[in-house]
Amino acid sequence: MTFWGLASVGLAALASGGGGLAVGWYLAARRTRTPEESPTKARDDAWMLALLAGMDEGVVAFDATGRVVFANVSAAQLLGRRHLPAGTPMAAFADVPRLRSTIVGAMRGGSPTARELHVGDPPVRIVQLRATPSPHGVVAVLLDVTEVRRIERGWREFAATTSHELKTPVAAILTNLEALELAAEAPEAVRRTFVEASRRQADRLAQLVSDLVELVRIEAQGAVAETELDTVSIGVACARAIDEVDPDRRVVIEPTELEVRADERMLGRVLANLLTNALRYSAGVVRVEARSVADRVRIAVIDHGPGIAEVHRARIFERFYRVDPGRSSAHGGTGLGLAIVRELTAGMGGSVELEPSEHGARFVVELARAAPNAPVG
Ligand code: ADP
Repeated sequence: MTFWGLASVGLAALASGGGGLAVGWYLAARRTRTPEESPTKARDDAWMLALLAGMDEGVVAFDATGRVVFANVSAAQLLGRRHLPAGTPMAAFADVPRLRSTIVGAMRGGSPTARELHVGDPPVRIVQLRATPSPHGVVAVLLDVTEVRRIERGWREFAATTSHELKTPVAAILTNLEALELAAEAPEAVRRTFVEASRRQADRLAQLVSDLVELVRIEAQGAVAETELDTVSIGVACARAIDEVDPDRRVVIEPTELEVRADERMLGRVLANLLTNALRYSAGVVRVEARSVADRVRIAVIDHGPGIAEVHRARIFERFYRVDPGRSSAHGGTGLGLAIVRELTAGMGGSVELEPSEHGARFVVELARAAPNAPVG
């Protein structure tokens, strides 16, 4: 088999997860060749080095004394260094806890060892290290798993808070049903109270599940491509949202001809959620104003209720974050309305913020302005 043939086998092993072994084999087999000695082999070496240089994974070969024989660019970056020259001693990695012990462990134990390393000052980068012994030392393959771990942690937290939120109405329904059983002889009016309380909690549960499903769907869907967005009239979108959520006609829209680049259904949901909150947490008139700033449009939903104190501003769009949990659940809120608003606006390339306001709450959605004369979608 030619050198290139062997290299292909090595790379196949690398692709199938035997990275350390394959690279170890290659590095062990490698020696400096001149083009005169073998033009084909020198070319193969150049290819292999180019492949190692182009990999996202870091690869470091240590000799039996623990010195670096070879390291690719990614390895240096992942270990927080500009360069990782041949000859670097193991002692130079004192700032990366567990690296040395993992390499030495693999060398002594003679079998592959895997660990997670925490590299650098906060924000710490989480790097997965797999150390595989080779006849000449150890090959370490490094992979940045910071983002993967962050997403996993997010999902764990999401699962924990979600199950807690779901348990509350379920427990309330069970308590009311038990009370109903015990009150078999009680007057009809008393029994009806328990039934109505169960129904309210069941409605809340249904709303919670439907908001959760929507949030997960939006997050999975990600951003909508610009080419998929339509030209949407703000006046029309507001009028539709009002029809949906404002039977008492408390919302006043300042007349506007402005149009935005948006997904009609998504913008409708954004407006409906902001209007529902404004109506829910305030009495009196709610205003919607739109104005154009450069190539963007800012749509403000303004109410004159109790407003939201400055301390809550940074967290108000988080899932299940409530300023006043009692008031939110008394109004049938799920704590997900603003999280949905944030995901949807971001999905249309826009943003939403709670602007400081002396009286009441002022939420502002910013989206790209549609170019004049664009057809309305
Ligand atoms: P909820 O379903 O509880 O209303 P949201 O995510 O829509 O959840 O809102 C989060 C929290 O922000 C609410 O619980 C409420 O405390 C506060 N909030 C939202 N909008 C307003 C508003 N217009 N006025 C006062 N408080 C608001």
